[in-house]
Amino acid sequence: VSEIYSKNTIPHALMYIDGQWVDSAERYEIRSPATEQVIATIAKGSIEHADLAVTSARRAFEAGVWRDLAPEKRAEVLLRTADQLAARSAELAKLASAENGFPMRIAEAGILDVAIDFLRYFARLGATYPYEKAGPSFGPLNSEGIIRREALEVCAAIVPWNVPLVLGMWKIAPALAAGNSVVVKPDQLAPLTLIELAREFERAGLPAGVLNVVTGEGTVVGAHLAQHPLVGKVAFTGSTATGREVMRLASSTVKRVTLELGGKAPSIVLEDADVDRAVDGVIYGCMAYSGQICESGTRVLLPHSLHDAFVAKLVERLKKLKIGDPSLPQTDLGPVISAAQRGRIFDFIEIAKSEGATLFYDGGRPEGPDFARGFWVAPTVFTEVTNDMQIAREEVFGPVLSVIRYDTVEDAIRIANDSQYGLSAGVWTRDRQAGLAVARRIQAGTVWINDWHALPPGYPFGGYKQSGVGREAGESALAQYTEEKFIAIAPMEGASTSPFAR
Ligand code: NAD
Repeated sequence: VSEIYSKNTIPHALMYIDGQWVDSAERYEIRSPATEQVIATIAKGSIEHADLAVTSARRAFEAGVWRDLAPEKRAEVLLRTADQLAARSAELAKLASAENGFPMRIAEAGILDVAIDFLRYFARLGATYPYEKAGPSFGPLNSEGIIRREALEVCAAIVPWNVPLVLGMWKIAPALAAGNSVVVKPDQLAPLTLIELAREFERAGLPAGVLNVVTGEGTVVGAHLAQHPLVGKVAFTGSTATGREVMRLASSTVKRVTLELGGKAPSIVLEDADVDRAVDGVIYGCMAYSGQICESGTRVLLPHSLHDAFVAKLVERLKKLKIGDPSLPQTDLGPVISAAQRGRIFDFIEIAKSEGATLFYDGGRPEGPDFARGFWVAPTVFTEVTNDMQIAREEVFGPVLSVIRYDTVEDAIRIANDSQYGLSAGVWTRDRQAGLAVARRIQAGTVWINDWHALPPGYPFGGYKQSGVGREAGESALAQYTEEKFIAIAPMEGASTSPFAR
C-alpha cells in the first residue's frame, strides 16, 4: 500500500480465487478522484473467473473445511482478522481514501473502526448463536421439535464504490460467521480495500475457497453471480435501478436476496430544536463524503418560523468547510468519485433550477489551482424546494441539500413519507417524547434523533419500500445468512401417528 504513495511504481492488484492470487490478461486503472492520476491497476475478472470462484466456494463448503468447524473456531479466525486489520488501520484508511476520495479526517473512524467493530460483533454472535434449539413438544405422542439454522452454501456479495470495506463487511462477516462460503464482487472504481481484506483473512488462516474476490464489470461478473445456479444468496448494495435487476436475475433460481439501495432521507427540524446543533447535524448528515452515502440526509424539512435563520446559518457554516485534497487531515470535503458522477450531479442541479427551486448556495465547482484536476462539486443548497421536484425525489449522490418548508408536524411527516425510498431519517428536537412520536411514524429503517450516520453493530440497517429488502447489521443479519429447518422427532418406539395405521 505504501507503494501507492511512492512516485515511481504503480502497484498491480490481483484477484483472490480458491486461495490463489490470480491475474488476468486485461487490467483496469484505478484513478484518484482528487488528481485523476493512476494509483494502481487491477486484474479485470471475467465470467470464467466468476465460475472458478463459485466452484471453489462450493467445493470448500461441501468439504466442510469451514462450515463444519466449531463456531468458536470460526470466530477465532474472524477475530484474528479483526486484530490484523486494526494493526493496519491507519495504512488501510489511507488506501480507502486514495481509491475513492474519502476524506482522511473521517476515514479511520468512519471506515476502519466501523468495519472492525462489525467483524468482531459477528464473530462473537456467530460463536454463541443458537444454531439448534428445542421447540415446544407437540402432537398425540408428545413429539419433540428442534429448530435448526444452517449455512446457505455460496453467498455472493456485490459491493459499490462508496464505502466498500464497511458495506462488504456487512455481508462477508455474517456470512462467514454462520459457516457459508463467499464470493465478493467489488466495484471496479474502488476494489483495493476489499482485496486487502481478503489478504488479512488468508493470513488469519481462513481455508482456501471460503472467501473469493473477483473484480470485473457489474453487468458481466456481477450479473453472472446474481444468476449463478450454485449461488444460494446474493447480497447487493448500490442503486435501486441495479438492485431491481439483481433481484430479477436472482429470481431465476429463487435465490435469497438482501438489497441495500438508494435513499432520499428527510431531516426534520422541529420548532423547539437547538438550531446550532441541528445546522451542524444537517451538514454532517448531508455533506459527509460529499453526500455519497446511501443514508445521507438530503431533504431538510424546516418550519416557517425557523426557515430564514436556519438557512442563513447553514450557508455561513458551509462556507467554512475545507474542500480539497482528501489525504490532508484538515480537509472536510474531497471530490466526488468520477467524471460521470460529477456530470450526473450537475445535471440534477440544472433540473432543480429549471423546476423552479432557488439555488441558494453555490451549485458550481470550487475554483483555484487545487481543483484543476479531479472531480469537484461545491456543497450546494436549494431552497423553495417542493417535494414533487426531482431534486426532492431522486438520489443525487452528491453534496446537494434540498430545503423544504412545512406547516405543521403532521405536514412534515407526510412530506417525509412521500418518497419511494425509506432508508433513513432524522428528527431534531429538545423534546424526547416529541422526537420519538415523529420517529415512530417515519417509514424508514433507521431514524436518528439529534444524530446522523450512527450505525452500531447491534442494530439493524436496511430500507423500507424501494430502499431495499432485508436487513444488514444486527442479530437478524446473521439469521439472513442461514436457512431455518424444523426437525420433528416422534418417540423412538411406540404407537404410529398414521391415520392409516392398521
Ligand atoms: P450500481 O448500483 O450500478 O453498482 C453497484 C455495484 O453493482 C457495483 O459493484 C457494480 O459493478 C454492480 N453492478 C452493476 N450492474 C450490475 C448488474 N447488472 N448485475 C449485478 N451487479 C451489477 O451503482 P453505480 O453505477 O456505482 O452508481 C450509480 C448510482 O447508484 C449513484 O449515482 C448513486 O445514486 C447510486 N449508488 C447508491 C449506493 C448506495 O449505497 N445506496 C452506492 C453506490 C451507488
